[in-house]
Amino acid sequence: MSYVTHLEAAIDGTRLPAREIATLHDGRPLWVRYDLEAVGRAVSRDALADRAPDLWRYRELLPVDDDDAVVSLGEGMSPLLPAPRLGEALGVPDLWIKDESQLPTGSFKARGLCMAVSMAKQLGITRVAIPTAGNAGGALAAYAARAGMECWVFMPEDTPLVNRVEAGLFGAHVFLVNGLINDCGAIVKQGKETVGWFDFSTLKEPYRIEGKKTMGLEVAEQCHWKLPDAIFYPTGGGTGLIGMWKAFEELSTLGWLESDVRPRMYSCQSTGCSPIAAAFEAGERFATAPAAPHTVASGLRVPVAVGDFMILDAVRASGGAALSADEERIGEWMTRAASLEGISLCPETAICLGALADSVAKGSVSKDERVVVFNTGAAQKYVEVLDTDIPRIDRAAVDWSLIESGS
Ligand SMILES: *Cc1c(COP(=O)(O)O)cnc(C)c1O
Repeated sequence: MSYVTHLEAAIDGTRLPAREIATLHDGRPLWVRYDLEAVGRAVSRDALADRAPDLWRYRELLPVDDDDAVVSLGEGMSPLLPAPRLGEALGVPDLWIKDESQLPTGSFKARGLCMAVSMAKQLGITRVAIPTAGNAGGALAAYAARAGMECWVFMPEDTPLVNRVEAGLFGAHVFLVNGLINDCGAIVKQGKETVGWFDFSTLKEPYRIEGKKTMGLEVAEQCHWKLPDAIFYPTGGGTGLIGMWKAFEELSTLGWLESDVRPRMYSCQSTGCSPIAAAFEAGERFATAPAAPHTVASGLRVPVAVGDFMILDAVRASGGAALSADEERIGEWMTRAASLEGISLCPETAICLGALADSVAKGSVSKDERVVVFNTGAAQKYVEVLDTDIPRIDRAAVDWSLIESGS
């Protein structure tokens, strides 16, 4: 049995039973709550060191009751890489990149969907469907295949090519919709009745947050239980940021942190779609959908987030900010980071680097601070954004001046 005691409505604290199929309450997400005292008695933070390097090492802080329900592809424990050259260039030498591009299907989405699919298996669900901006569809398709479930994926027709093909490769029924992710979401909602699938939309089931939470647990453990000064995280639906903040709260309650000073959380969006940053600026707790959202950082192309207030509450409680950075500079930041550090940086994380550069310039992040930026996905998944203009060599008349100059 897990240490889950109950579910709790995020909007008003209503207590709901665990261990049955759950979705939203009053149209808003649920928290999973644990008996943390019992967790603290069952495991010590130092005992974790001997466990396998995947996210299941935090078993006592995860919701799965039944070991047979665990659906795994060896996910988690992504490396926390020092990025001194990039840090120097940005004016924050103590810069670290948590590289989630190394997870199954090449993005951090694996963490959430691994947990959600495991819980769906435990609860006897066999058909699942998801609206996706890209990576969530690929990750759900992979974990559904791993669990032997039937899977439907709905995505906007301008979703990156690799996302369009990977879900089909994993055996999902994939459909392109002439609309935004919210239009895909409406189809998934309707299909609950007509096709009888379970709706895996972001935050509509409570367990994805628990999977994402492991990013915060890993950062804490990898930083020897002393959290960094600031975390920059790209925000679409917000599960990553919400999950990490929940992790820090639970670790604090457990008394596992060396100091209770938590990181300032920076939620980063593109100027092409920044409802959370706009709500933060305006001092609002709920966001308003932008009129014509557009960004090549497809994971950030989310005009409406049901967990908007959860993101904004966390950002404000942390003393951080919700920021928007220049859409036009995504390609530049991707290339710069990848070529300086060898890390396969996605467009969503390029936005974080833009936001970090702006914050250093404004003085809200200072030179001596430890900053962690999350690389949520692999650059290779975004072939459309990458430079494919490669010079050609004629094997009969090799142009050495071209080769020596490099391009
Ligand atoms: C989905 C996604 C995001 C946004 O994550 P949320 O947790 O939904 O805010 C960021 N980066 C990538 C690569 C994604 O796939």
